[in-house]
Amino acid sequence: MRVLITGGAGFIGSHLADAYLKRGDHVYVIDDLSTGKIENIQHLKGQPRFHYTIDTVHNQPVTAELVDQCDVIFHLAAAVGVKLIVESPVRTIETNVRGTEVVLALANKKKKKVLVASTSEVYGLSSDVPFREDGNLVMGATTKGRWSYACSKAIDEFLALAYWREKKLPTIIVRLFNTVGPRQTGQYGMVIPTFVKQALSGRPITVYGDGNQSRCFGFVGDVVGALVNLMDHNDAVGQVFNIGSNQEISILELARRVKELTQSDSEIVFIPYDEAYEEGFEDMPRRVPDISKVSELVGFRPEMSLEGILKTVIDYQSGRQK
Ligand code: UDP
Repeated sequence: MRVLITGGAGFIGSHLADAYLKRGDHVYVIDDLSTGKIENIQHLKGQPRFHYTIDTVHNQPVTAELVDQCDVIFHLAAAVGVKLIVESPVRTIETNVRGTEVVLALANKKKKKVLVASTSEVYGLSSDVPFREDGNLVMGATTKGRWSYACSKAIDEFLALAYWREKKLPTIIVRLFNTVGPRQTGQYGMVIPTFVKQALSGRPITVYGDGNQSRCFGFVGDVVGALVNLMDHNDAVGQVFNIGSNQEISILELARRVKELTQSDSEIVFIPYDEAYEEGFEDMPRRVPDISKVSELVGFRPEMSLEGILKTVIDYQSGRQK
């Protein structure tokens, strides 16, 4: 099979490329390196079945050529990280909406199956935990920059579902919950790589708010397995799936675990949200997926424990793992 991965030099995309190459498939990556990194695919460059293009998916002739060459498409190219989104809202909206429009329109011409990566962020301020795919999405005010990410991804979801219903383009939508592992950078605000970096360098571990907010952290290897299985399954088409772990932990407890596992002397400090992001920033107090839908269809089960995940990130940041 020939697999196109937009955003393939990113954290999740590069692990997905590894998985398909391991299976014996051909992988084509397009990435503009805005948040992706060439180091993430450095180890793949010599492989004959690996091809990469450094460009944006907005460049239609280039993307059209890649769509032609491939059998299936994973559309992962997007603006990522709450911090980046709050700082660059124009880029977030344009990248997420236009990029998906281009990819879906081109895929539709050749009727190539597309999996679109959405996000748990679309559940917004909903308190209906655990979140189910058919639950309501509760958006915050448009004056709060954070919600532009959720809205742009919700539009991507509507568009992908519309292509399926109206034009019979096979599309699949996945809502990725907090996904972590080696190659993820803390540069765009993600909490685990940030805490590990702080702990390893002895700098204060920065817990935003009171640390009682919780998240569920899924291992990238487990998530990638689900993406591959969904792409292979005919019944996944036209549907939305939550993917992630359902083991919940508070951010303060996470900071303590990181400190313990790295045997760090770092102090744990509390930073108000207004200072960490922007004035009036709204966090999601809990974010827990109901994963029964993806479990029932493709047998998904998060395998890696939080401790195992943290160890891989610590090893990666200490230069012991690629
Ligand atoms: N967070 C934190 N300190 C940091 C970075 C993030 O306390 O240095 C918090 C953040 O406010 C949020 C949680 O960790 O409550 C997860 O943040 P992340 O950006 O990783 O993911 P998301 O907010 O998208 O779930």
